[in-house]
Amino acid sequence: MTPDQLEEGARRLQAWREKQVAQPQGSGGRGASYGRLVGPEPDFAHGVALYLEDITVSFDGFKALNALSLAINVGELRCIIGPNGAGKTTMMDCITGKTTPDAGKVFFGSNIDLLRLSEPEIAQIGVGRKFQKPTVYEQLSVFENLELALKADRRVRASLFSRLSGAQLDRIGEVLALIHLKDEAQRVAGLLSHGQKQWLEIGMLLMQDPKLLLLDEPVAGMTDEETERTAELFLSLEGQHSLVVVEHDMKFVDQLTEGRKKVTVLHEGSVLAEGLLSEVQANEKVVEVYLGR
Ligand code: ADP
Ligand code: MG
Repeated sequence: MTPDQLEEGARRLQAWREKQVAQPQGSGGRGASYGRLVGPEPDFAHGVALYLEDITVSFDGFKALNALSLAINVGELRCIIGPNGAGKTTMMDCITGKTTPDAGKVFFGSNIDLLRLSEPEIAQIGVGRKFQKPTVYEQLSVFENLELALKADRRVRASLFSRLSGAQLDRIGEVLALIHLKDEAQRVAGLLSHGQKQWLEIGMLLMQDPKLLLLDEPVAGMTDEETERTAELFLSLEGQHSLVVVEHDMKFVDQLTEGRKKVTVLHEGSVLAEGLLSEVQANEKVVEVYLGR
C-alpha cells in the first residue's frame, strides 16, 4: 500500500459515510453497481513478470542506479541483497513509478511499459509495494483494515457503497489465515505487535491481488519467530505471485531461497553478482563490498 492509496481509501470511506448519513434508507442505485475498470492487461505468456534494462538514475550527477538490468520470472521469489546505498530502494521506486529513470526500460509482463504509467496506475495493474515502515489504520480493527484495502482497489469501482459479498468475505478470511491474524480479526490494529502490523500491511496488499509484490526490508525489527513466519508466508505466496524481496537478514534469505533459488547482489547501482546464496557468499567481490564488513 502506498500512503496515497491509503489516503484515497480513507477519502472514499469518508465519502461513503457521508452518503450513508445523507441517505439513511440506502439505495441500490448507481452507487451499488460493481464494475471493473478496464486497464491494460499484462502479458505473462513469455514467463517474464518484470524486466529492467539499463536503468540509470542520477541524483545531482551521482548515479544511484547505473545501467541496472534484471529479469524476474512469473511466480518467482527473488531476494535482492546489497550494502546500504546500493540502490535497492531506488530500484523499487523506478518500478512503482515514484522515480523516473534517466534512461532504460522497465516492463511488466512482456507488454506493459511501466515508464509510461503513473504511480497509481502501476498499483492498479497489479504491482504491490510494501514500504519499510508499516502503514495501517491504527484505530481500525484488523478486519476493517483488510476491508478498506479491498474497497480502495480502484478496479472494484464503487464497492464502498455496497456490502461485502460472500466472495469478498471469503477472501478476507483467506488472507487473515495467510497472515496468521485470524484470532486478531476484531482487534484494533494499533494494539498489534510490530511484526503483526507488518503482516497486516502485507495482507492489505494481498487484498488487491497483485501479480508482483515488492517488499523492502520486510523483517526489519521483527523477532526471530516473526521472521520465520514471514518467510513461511512468502514461500506460500510464491508461484501465485512474483515476489521481489530486499533484505539484509541472511538467515531469512537462506530460508526463502531454500538452497536452490537465485539471489541478486546489488552494488553501486548495478548487479555485482547473481547466483545461489552459497555461491554469492563465496564470491570474493561480494565478501569485500558487503558480507565481509
Ligand atoms: P539502498 O536501498 O540500497 O540502501 P537507496 O536506493 O536508498 O539504497 O539509495 C541509493 C543511493 O542513492 C544512496 O547513495 C542514496 O543516498 C542516494 N539517493 C537515494 N534517493 C535519493 C534522493 N532522492 N536524492 C539524492 N540521493 C538519493
Ligand atoms: Mg533501502
